Amino acid sequence: MSLTEIDLHKQLKKYFGFSQFKGLQEDVVASIVHKNDTFVIMPTGGGKSLCYQLPALIEEGTAIVVSPLIALMKNQVDAIRGISSEYGVAHVLNSSLNKTEVKQVKEDIINGVTKLLYVAPESLTKEDYVDFLKEQKISFLAIDEAHCISEWGHDFRPEYRNLRQIIKRIGENIPIIALTATATPKVQEDILKNLGIPKAKTFKASFNRPNLYYEVRPKTKNVDADIIRFVKQNNGKSGIIYCLSRKKVEELAQTLQVNGINAIPYHAGLDAKTRSKHQDMFLMEEVDVVVATIAFGMGIDKPDVRFVIHHDIPKSIESYYQETGRAGRDGGEGHCLAFYAYKDIEKLEKFMSGKPVAEQEVGHALLQEVVAYAETSISRRKFILHYFGEEFDEKTGDGASMDDNVRNPKKQHEAKEELEL
Ligand code: ADP
Ligand code: MG
Repeated sequence: MSLTEIDLHKQLKKYFGFSQFKGLQEDVVASIVHKNDTFVIMPTGGGKSLCYQLPALIEEGTAIVVSPLIALMKNQVDAIRGISSEYGVAHVLNSSLNKTEVKQVKEDIINGVTKLLYVAPESLTKEDYVDFLKEQKISFLAIDEAHCISEWGHDFRPEYRNLRQIIKRIGENIPIIALTATATPKVQEDILKNLGIPKAKTFKASFNRPNLYYEVRPKTKNVDADIIRFVKQNNGKSGIIYCLSRKKVEELAQTLQVNGINAIPYHAGLDAKTRSKHQDMFLMEEVDVVVATIAFGMGIDKPDVRFVIHHDIPKSIESYYQETGRAGRDGGEGHCLAFYAYKDIEKLEKFMSGKPVAEQEVGHALLQEVVAYAETSISRRKFILHYFGEEFDEKTGDGASMDDNVRNPKKQHEAKEELEL
């Protein structure tokens, strides 16, 4: 089938059952099918996976997908197998496979059955795999969560740094697709530079979430009472409350329970069984509120989360955007409330003091942006979007009024007084 004959809508329907592309998906798919290096920046939930899965299913050969987490890869492979009856169509290649399994995966690739091969970056460094893959027909290479390549991102993985060299060894002319949900201009530059794809066709979706209401309140010693009041005013609604430490998670969950709120804790210190039970209880609406550390959220897709509260301010605007982004997935209102005290910033700075100097510098710069966000008197939505390199008109933009600073602008004299301090 020649490229011009491919009806992408038909293929979308055939493989995924969807009748429409979401946002920029169609253009991205076309770019990949036309063998361009491609860079995709879309917020979480934007539908990035399909951008490479559909071309992989259409094209000859195997697409290699680099992804940082085994759990994420497994989810994706299961999902792909769900939509396509062929077992061999998607595989994970990682250290958990035994020899027989590796042999089976290799055979499926050789026979052209495997369309998607998910690998962790550290598996790709194995000589044996590289030697094998360079003999195969590879359609393209997709790097998911590409911000892991940048130390300016919120999730730097040193293994991502070697990808360019490995890709070169697998094949000089394989198109590269990078995808991320968290690209500040700095991270974007890093990704393109490190992957050696300066001319990649870039597709960037808007990061504006017009149905989210952004609010910052000063954090006092009564913060727990403030949270209880807020949750009670939102009785029966689903919400997430983020705390910095496991200890605080446990304490706050208990305080809420004592006050008659249906809340449970979630953090990495709980055993796997409890964690998955608590997550299910939240998803199944047996509880209203999860009090959690940042361990909670990756891959959580509960559409009707109505509020996300930060008891402690996060360490970057990107983290804040990701965490608040779990509210209002269904398009209904999501209230994003952060409690802020400068003391918390100092605490976060102190946490970093044991780290290498370069990391501390990055961490400090990211924190200063958080301070600026918390203390700003301009539209918070404008601030966040500006951080992501996007312009926003605070008067006419979509969701402009969903913002404490816009609804209750600081009066002129207050602003003046602050200046005179
Ligand atoms: P991302 O990786 O950008 O966070 P995902 O690839 O996980 O997003 O997709 C988010 C959700 O959107 C998934 O449930 C997926 O099935 C759904 N989705 C993707 N593309 C479409 C589409 N064209 N039509 C309907 N739903 C879609
Ligand atoms: Mg994704």
